[in-house]
Amino acid sequence: MPTETVAADPAGITRAVALLAKGHVVALPTETVYGLAGDATDPAAVAAIYAAKGRPGFNPLIVHVVDLAAAERLVEVDAIARALATRFWPGPLTLVLPARPGNGIAPEVTAGLATLAVRVPAHPVMRAVLAAFGRPLAAPSANASGTISPTTAAHVAATLGGRIPLIVDGGATPGGLESTIVRIDGGRVSLLRPGGIDAALLGIDSEAAPGIVAPGQLASHYAPAQPLRLDATSAEAGEYLIGFGAVAGDTTLSAAGDLNEAAARLFAALHLAQASGAARIAVAPIPATGVGAAINDRLRRAAAPRP
Ligand code: AMP
Ligand code: MG
Repeated sequence: MPTETVAADPAGITRAVALLAKGHVVALPTETVYGLAGDATDPAAVAAIYAAKGRPGFNPLIVHVVDLAAAERLVEVDAIARALATRFWPGPLTLVLPARPGNGIAPEVTAGLATLAVRVPAHPVMRAVLAAFGRPLAAPSANASGTISPTTAAHVAATLGGRIPLIVDGGATPGGLESTIVRIDGGRVSLLRPGGIDAALLGIDSEAAPGIVAPGQLASHYAPAQPLRLDATSAEAGEYLIGFGAVAGDTTLSAAGDLNEAAARLFAALHLAQASGAARIAVAPIPATGVGAAINDRLRRAAAPRP
């Protein structure tokens, strides 16, 4: 199928909403990475998301809604969830909460789980589409499963071109890392995936919740085509070096050693390195403080042995 890329203007948003209403999937910018959105209440649309990405069916999707009231129609929101939602929504925080029976979400979204992952995105384009569409949107990252996440429309086209009808081009995404995912269960908050919001801000002691794993958090993920070496302070022969701070590299995540800048640039740098034609990629050490924990999580998965 031909893939059309349109500007994120009112006409582009109208076009996206019209396709969604017909059960098609469209790529949209969010404040984290580009998402591949489909009507979360339509099993065929959800199946089209899994098919376009080649995503394993056991890996559940995050549902995006326009505000907390819309989330409350889908999940049970307790006092802790309400406090987190009030503080961090709209924004890159996903809450895994008990699903409300009869919430209309297609069962394929949760891969049969009794919980549902929900988030209220902050990006104006995603918000405009949600408001106009009026229904929840399931939206994983808009890339082929396992490959580097997309932070530009060109990244989306690189792996989904020909597989989806529309990409709404809203420029580079500002945050650059996927959302932080937490589960709230019986008054306990546990971190399922580090992300755009520092877990410390959520008051989570991630050490206190060992062994809690989110389904689909595969060891190898976000992976470039070449092998990746971590904690490199200089390039070996044949390596493309991604720098940080004092380690200059062929490109840098942040010459100033700024972790927020590094988060925003991480996937673009991996795309650059992959396209460089170098036999291997190396990445400078990144401090694991603050959003650095999420950057290191993505780098470890990018470097992990492929299945
Ligand atoms: P992605 O769409 O690639 O950002 O991945 C979303 C991730 O959210 C999945 O890989 C799961 O780990 C997690 N997730 C989604 N729904 C649930 C759920 N109901 N329970 C636990 N984790 C979930
Ligand atoms: Mg993804």
